[in-house]
Amino acid sequence: MEIMRNGSQPSEHAPAAYFTGNVRIDPLCRPAAPARVQSVRVTFEPGARTAWHTHPLGQTLVVTEGCGGMQCWGQPIQEIRAGDVVWIPAGEKHWHGAAQTTALTHIAIHEHLDGKNADWLEQVSDAQYRGE
Ligand code: MN
Repeated sequence: MEIMRNGSQPSEHAPAAYFTGNVRIDPLCRPAAPARVQSVRVTFEPGARTAWHTHPLGQTLVVTEGCGGMQCWGQPIQEIRAGDVVWIPAGEKHWHGAAQTTALTHIAIHEHLDGKNADWLEQVSDAQYRGE
């Protein structure tokens, strides 16, 4: 058993290549092989969001604070709020992020395949983010 003590895992700045706006990633658990599951807490400031992306083995999002939005390609934006749990199937192109004026925090749980837990695509434009 391993207890990841609070304060032992530094926060990370989400890379600008894959995110818009200020996004902080706090590692939760990234166990060594043969485990494949990984979990992180992600905090998006208002207006911040991921780029479009897919996950090779899917992803669960547990919204823990605030409210925001997410969208699957070709579908309308869905509002997500604290307490919501979302499953994104493998290969589904999507984004997730904060609301325009309210921050969002979610826990993301996903497995990696061949060293990757996501395939990153283009950024979400301001017009796409606003649902235009
Ligand atoms: Mn995702």
